[in-house]
Amino acid sequence: MSDLVFVLNSGSSSIKYQLLHAKSGEVLASGIVERIGEPDGKIVHEAGDTRLIREGAIPDHRDGLRQAFELFNDTGIDLKTIGITAVGHRVVHGGEVFYQPTLINKEVLETISRLSKLAPLHNPANVIGIESTLELLPGIPEVAVFDTAFFHDLPAPARTYAIDAKLAAEYDIRRYGFHGTSHQYVSEQAAKFLERDTTELNQIVFHLGNGASASAIRGGRAVDTSMGLTPLEGLVMGTRPGDLDPGITPYLMHIANMDLADIEHLLNRESGLKGMSGVNDFRALGKLIESGDAAAKLAYETYIHRLRAYLGAYMLDLDRVDDIIFTAGVGENSVEVRADSLSGLERYGIHLDGSRNATRTPGIRRISTDDSPVTVLVVPTNEELAIARAAIDLVD
Ligand code: AMP
Repeated sequence: MSDLVFVLNSGSSSIKYQLLHAKSGEVLASGIVERIGEPDGKIVHEAGDTRLIREGAIPDHRDGLRQAFELFNDTGIDLKTIGITAVGHRVVHGGEVFYQPTLINKEVLETISRLSKLAPLHNPANVIGIESTLELLPGIPEVAVFDTAFFHDLPAPARTYAIDAKLAAEYDIRRYGFHGTSHQYVSEQAAKFLERDTTELNQIVFHLGNGASASAIRGGRAVDTSMGLTPLEGLVMGTRPGDLDPGITPYLMHIANMDLADIEHLLNRESGLKGMSGVNDFRALGKLIESGDAAAKLAYETYIHRLRAYLGAYMLDLDRVDDIIFTAGVGENSVEVRADSLSGLERYGIHLDGSRNATRTPGIRRISTDDSPVTVLVVPTNEELAIARAAIDLVD
């Protein structure tokens, strides 16, 4: 059987896709469709050494994917005949229902759509992505891989909010966690690197991208994570605040005359680093800090302060920590974030090696000293590969 998988990550205003071999991870083509629904849409498509850029209106997701398929044809790849074994979809919210990769049928699709109440920004876009590939690639098995799945079995005290229990049950209010595919993938990769089994390891993962989350993993099972019912909770992020006093919402409604839509926009798009400093991109933040911008400096310090609070909590939670993993755009690239997150923690067994931390090499790397009781690793995440492997395993 071929191990060729088409992976789709259909977001609210963009679609990312990859055509790859699940075993070797070799990517035949990949692309991103951006600014869907706006007049200045853009598709960047890469296949081997060829890079094609198409600009112009992309009215909706279906059209975006149709145009991407044309670009595949332009680079000599006919997706219908190349021998794809499965289509893998990143689906953000699986609710209480889905906690494993799941073969998509009509009922599954309806349930994913129903779960939109828990992820109104994400699940509807996932559904459109699935409907589009069902139409464009008929007859190929489609598999949904859920961002929440890895955290489905969090221990009850870690998944429960201290609110009215009946209300929580009636409206499915619990801590679900997100970025699960990445947390699971990098923790497994780290175990392989350390030549240990995940069941033997206690690990802490920091997935630090534009969205950011932390997790505590005991023996391969997640026991805590920083995101909750929605991906707003936890660490400071590019445009999201992470933890807030829940009283801020009614306070703003009273005092600033904001309505629900204003507050949703504020919390999802205008908070975090962007709210504090005006920029959400870490490289831009770094430049502002270098120029002496006080707001950017405070944003960075708040980011680190929150991250260390989670680190401390998870160290206590796990008792013995074998490894700490940094991943995603900021985690893999920012020497400063890693150094500042772990500075002064030698008495807790965390000894960072400054020169290893500052030396960039591809793949997994150890950035703690050889005799550090806690190993610190940079592990590149690869959600597409994890989704492709999950899809192939299921179809097999
Ligand atoms: P992701 O969501 O994983 O794509 O990560 C996006 C974030 O990673 C953005 O804030 C980028 O600024 C940040 N990032 C990417 N490359 C670097 C880099 N070389 N140094 C610092 N931050 C980076």
